This record gives sequence, C-alpha cells and structure tokens, in this order.
Amino acid sequence: CIDCDTSGLYCTACLMQSHTRSPLHRVKTWNGTYFEESSLASAGLTLKLGHDPALCDSRKAKNHSHLMTVMDTNGLHNVRLTWCRCYGFSQLGRELLRLQWVLATLVRPGTAFTFRVLKHFQMLSHVARTTPWDFCNAIQRITDNIQPDLLPDIYRSFNRIQHIWRVARAYKRGGVTSVSRYEMQLGMQCVSCSWPGKNIPDNW
Ligand SMILES: [Zn+2]
Ligand SMILES: [Zn+2]
Ligand SMILES: [Zn+2]
Repeated sequence: CIDCDTSGLYCTACLMQSHTRSPLHRVKTWNGTYFEESSLASAGLTLKLGHDPALCDSRKAKNHSHLMTVMDTNGLHNVRLTWCRCYGFSQLGRELLRLQWVLATLVRPGTAFTFRVLKHFQMLSHVARTTPWDFCNAIQRITDNIQPDLLPDIYRSFNRIQHIWRVARAYKRGGVTSVSRYEMQLGMQCVSCSWPGKNIPDNW
C-alpha cells in the first residue's frame, strides 16, 4: 500500500484485513516483474454498510453489491460496497454521508466525493484560483499519469457537487437552518448605511 505509513509488503489476506475501513488507499501488486498499479476493490475488498444481512429483521435479507467511483485527494478509486437489500439508495446516501462521502446523485449513485477532497478543492480555489476543470484534470493525472483519458469523466458531477458544497457551507457558517429563496439570508448589510441601534447614536 502506498498510502499507509509503513514500508512492509503484504499478502492479499493481510492487506484486506488492514484496510477494511480504509477503502481509499492506493495499492500496487507484484506481477512477477514489477509493481503494477492495482486497487483494493480488484484485490477483493468490499466496504460493508449498515447491518449484517444475516441479522436482518426484514424478509428481504440479501446482500446487495455495488461498484462506485470515489474521488479523494489521492485520486479516483473504485470501491465495492455491500449492504443489506432492505436498505434503499436514500438510506445508502445517509450511510455514506456518515462516512463523509457525498453522492453525486441519489438515483443509483455511481460516483461519490469525500468531504476531504471538497474541502481541499475549496481552499485551492480560494487561495490558488484553481478551477474545477483544472482540479479534475490534476486528480485524473494523480490517478493515472500515462492514460488519464481512460478514467471516468468526473468533471460534470464534480462541478455540480462542489457548487452545492459551497452553498451548504455558506449556509452553515451563516447559521441558516431553513432555506428560503425569497429572503437574502446570506446577504450582508451595507456598513456605510446608517442602521439604528448599530452604527448611529440612539437619539438620531
Ligand atoms: Zn493502506
Ligand atoms: Zn499475510
Ligand atoms: Zn436488512
């Protein structure tokens, strides 16, 4: 694993065991000649969500498996998720939010973004004027610098989600708990204007 802070080499079973809660690490496997790029999903790692299907109360108890592309600061990842079939995709969205992942859509989601990558991009956009397009290209090249064009095109969904993320954070910072389109809840009052009780004498 090139994202773990260890230098050891591991067999597949040990790698799976040490990464049950770290599905976004990048791994390389020895193919007999050199270490080639691989992934935890192709090595057999699945991320289990929700309750154990064997302990499910509903009659629908059955494992459901889904492959998803997840964008993190260290690149794009294929992650295989499994959950009990009594869970719908909306419950899956909630479960993944707890993992600090944002889904690109709630209708059979195929893409998710970590809070980490969204925060990272927001800071780069404020400080270094990085655009979503450049950021997506950089993440694709971090994932595969030889054939980045073969990777899934993530720009459109990233652009949409980073926009929602910005607005949601602005509302959070502004202490706005219910959103109404008709009130300027995030608007700032003009500091040069006279506001009774704020910047003019009481007896004006
Ligand atoms: Zn690792
Ligand atoms: Zn081992
Ligand atoms: Zn269940």
